[in-house]
Amino acid sequence: MSVSVLFRIEDLLVQFGGLRAIDAFSMEVEQGSIHALIGPNGAGKSTVLNCVSRFVTPRSGRMVFDGRDLLAARPHVVTRMGIARTFQNIELCREMSVLENVLVGAMSQTPRYLPFLPGFARGRIERDAVMQAEALLERTGLLPFRDAKAADLDFGRQKLLDLTRALAAKPRMLFLDEPAAGLRNAEITALDALLVDLVRGGGLTIVLVEHVMQLVMSVADHITVLNFGRRIADGGPAEIRRNPDVIEAYLGTDAHAAG
Ligand code: ADP
Ligand code: MG
Repeated sequence: MSVSVLFRIEDLLVQFGGLRAIDAFSMEVEQGSIHALIGPNGAGKSTVLNCVSRFVTPRSGRMVFDGRDLLAARPHVVTRMGIARTFQNIELCREMSVLENVLVGAMSQTPRYLPFLPGFARGRIERDAVMQAEALLERTGLLPFRDAKAADLDFGRQKLLDLTRALAAKPRMLFLDEPAAGLRNAEITALDALLVDLVRGGGLTIVLVEHVMQLVMSVADHITVLNFGRRIADGGPAEIRRNPDVIEAYLGTDAHAAG
């Protein structure tokens, strides 16, 4: 593996009953890049992410993160290795506050011996966690809603909170499942700037599953295209935009629909 590749999928096969949801799929993600994974509905994009989170077990193939075999790792170990994700259907603790949701995201980083520490030490760690959560909320623009109930946020802010919660785990690599879906234009522009800042300024590596082509073409360094579980194209945005297979399978229809 070349030194600049942080994450690699090799020859992945996922089968649901008789359906080959992912078939002979490979991709390589360079450290410090935004790598978009696109394709029509049902192409298998979320399934790839579910393999990374270990919710779905592939029939065969390999997934390697920073030289470590992900398929050999238990799900909680994947988080501790520095991998975080968001979900296509937002997964928040709806009755908890915005701040509490971010603290839940940070919990994978808190020491397991926390409950056994004397009160003063525990208090300091907890205060630090709150300060870090507030700093993150400031970065994503949600600090004014710190004490609001997650369920009371509008849709765009719930998606942003899902992203903030994922960032609280201090990941090295972040998988985003359609973060721009349902967002208004101004929110997409803000998300665009945030993703670029996280990668260029924060050293994060991002895999972006997304239908909103305006965002993909603007932020992606590299694009992989899936159709019926198979990779049909792989390359830079300009190359992908004029690839006839991609236009036929995807851009021709969805780019129109997205207007
Ligand atoms: P995408 O995210 O690209 O829209 P998905 O990965 O969600 O596509 O789905 C790919 C295919 O696999 C679809 O045909 C879907 O119905 C099927 N699929 C996904 N998850 C499951 C599951 N847990 N059980 C059975 N079929 C599934
Ligand atoms: Mg999906």
